[in-house]
Amino acid sequence: MKMYTCKQMIYRLSDYMEKELPFHKRLIFRLHLWMCHNCRKYLKQFKKSVELTGKIPKENPPKALIELLEKTFKK
Ligand SMILES: [Zn+2]
Repeated sequence: MKMYTCKQMIYRLSDYMEKELPFHKRLIFRLHLWMCHNCRKYLKQFKKSVELTGKIPKENPPKALIELLEKTFKK
C-alpha cells in the first residue's frame, strides 16, 4: 500500500472532507492522519476554517497556505 506524503494529504483534503475519495484512498488518508501529528493539526485548522467560511475550498490550497505548511512540516 502506497503511503501519502504530507503534501499529498493536503491536496486531497477537500476531497476527503466532501467524501469524494474512494474507500481505499480514505483508508490511506486516515492511516496517515493516525500516524502524523502535523496533518492532524492541519486537518483541525482546515475544519475550523470550513466552519468559519461555511464552505470547503475546492481549489488547490492558496500559495500562502502552502508556504505556511512547508514551514510547519519542516524538520
Ligand atoms: Zn502528514
